[in-house]
Formats: sequence, structure tokens, C-alpha cells
Amino acid sequence: MRAWECPNCVNMNNRDLNASINIMFEGVKMYMERELTELQLN
Ligand SMILES: [Zn+2]
Repeated sequence: MRAWECPNCVNMNNRDLNASINIMFEGVKMYMERELTELQLN
């Protein structure tokens, strides 16, 4: 059990997590937009 968390490390971890989530959503968004464009063209 961790009794204490270093605020710096927690912030860094949160930033890394947020960055990962943002990158993932960007990828999904790009994929969805491409799929929608193909659907509209066909
Ligand atoms: Zn730390």
C-alpha cells in the first residue's frame, strides 16, 4: 500500500495518461472521418 504519492510523479503520470488518451482519440477521429468520407463517396 502506498501511503504517500509524490505530487510531481502523479502529475507527470496524469499528463502522460492524458497525452495517450488524446493521441488515441485523434487516431479514432481520423479513422472515423476517413470511413465516413468513403461511405459518402460510395
Ligand atoms: Zn516524484
